[in-house]
Amino acid sequence: MSRQESGGPLLDVRDLVVHHGQLRALSGISLTVFPGEVYALIGANGAGKSTLLRTIAGLHHPTSGSISYDGKDVTGLRPEKRATAGIVMVPEGRRLFPSLTLEENLKVGGSFARKGPWTIGRVYDLFPWMKERRGQKTAQMSGGEQQSVAIGRALVANPRVLLLDELSLGLAPVIVQRIYAMLPQVLESGITVLLVEQDVSQALRVATHLQCLLEGHTTLEGTPAEVTREQVEAAYFGAGPAAQAEVSSPTPPDPDGQRSNALWPGLTPSSRAC
Ligand code: ATP
Repeated sequence: MSRQESGGPLLDVRDLVVHHGQLRALSGISLTVFPGEVYALIGANGAGKSTLLRTIAGLHHPTSGSISYDGKDVTGLRPEKRATAGIVMVPEGRRLFPSLTLEENLKVGGSFARKGPWTIGRVYDLFPWMKERRGQKTAQMSGGEQQSVAIGRALVANPRVLLLDELSLGLAPVIVQRIYAMLPQVLESGITVLLVEQDVSQALRVATHLQCLLEGHTTLEGTPAEVTREQVEAAYFGAGPAAQAEVSSPTPPDPDGQRSNALWPGLTPSSRAC
């Protein structure tokens, strides 16, 4: 099934330009996310990924361009109205209230909640360890546990599109795997996911579609099956002409079906050339 066959886009971002003061952080970014997708934004430090996610959530005002959600223009809508409409973000760094308990943090997520299937009880079903530690302050929790609480807080708001900013930041790979294990249940509940991930291997494991940013520009777009390691490296690091070419036609199918798993390991921020 093609992307479009799943219906109209849930999110449609057109020609977004965003400045932080004098700095042009995004230079005409477009992206279309269809229901049920896991859309990954990849790119090195400072590429503009978080700025894009935060602008979609309403936390930055674009200089120009538009953001449509479920067919309606939400470019000027306040962040809390977007949250109530179903655009909910798990911010980089989690931004929990450290002096509040786990359950109190989850309750905060319900403040601008839509009606829907996600309750605090369902979050405890997703992360069973939480139930018996619901009275513990989140300041006393590990990074991975805090990240799970941040995800739970977002789920309690019953998003239609969940924006995940750098879930893996500062966490050991085994913890990252555990956190991403929640994704199938989140998708099954009808939530669409737009995520930012510096760890390309991780992004490619979960994404149905990806876009690479570099210094505020789109350098690559396609499905994981369409892009080669060389194209991703060029787009990520900005080396060579492939970095400028949007993927418009699929590369030949991988005969042994192992291509993506065999190619992506090793391409992490630590292997940046610059
Ligand atoms: P990272 O993975 O390091 O978070 P990123 O791809 O998410 O990188 P952004 O955080 O969006 O990139 O940053 C894009 C550019 O905008 C960078 O040059 C950054 O320094 C700058 N920037 C981001 N937020 C602000 C801000 N609030 N004020 C000023 N400049 C900012």
